[in-house]
Amino acid sequence: MICPVCKKDMVDIEYHQIELDYCTRCNGVWFDAEELELLLDQADLKDHDLPLDDLLNLPEAKTSEKGRKCPICNLKMKKTTIGKEPEVLIDACFQGDGLWFDGGEVNHLIKQIATKKKAEASSQQQVLGFLSEVFKAEQ
Ligand SMILES: [Zn+2]
Ligand SMILES: [Zn+2]
Repeated sequence: MICPVCKKDMVDIEYHQIELDYCTRCNGVWFDAEELELLLDQADLKDHDLPLDDLLNLPEAKTSEKGRKCPICNLKMKKTTIGKEPEVLIDACFQGDGLWFDGGEVNHLIKQIATKKKAEASSQQQVLGFLSEVFKAEQ
């Protein structure tokens, strides 16, 4: 799969049953539809209140960030924000192919949900450890 930012090949990363595409240049991550949910399940964060099923109905984010194209259907993606303080700006395919996170954003999001839900530390730390190790994102 081609990185929507760098236009270079991404690498496949497998974590439990989840397959992610990761760009080693910009540290961005592509989640196919449902894969983010699976990752949250792994972290015992299943009962998060993120509107993941409803992303395409959320308002378009106002940002100067460049528009990106879905690496699957090649159509322009929607920019929207999820989470709070700080909000995480993501790109979502209008057809539901998946989601794009810039480097470090997945970590921010998971930490945020984890803090709020006071999830079991071990499973949460495992996923965060995996993310920071594999994605080299700052904690
Ligand atoms: Zn990239
Ligand atoms: Zn698409």
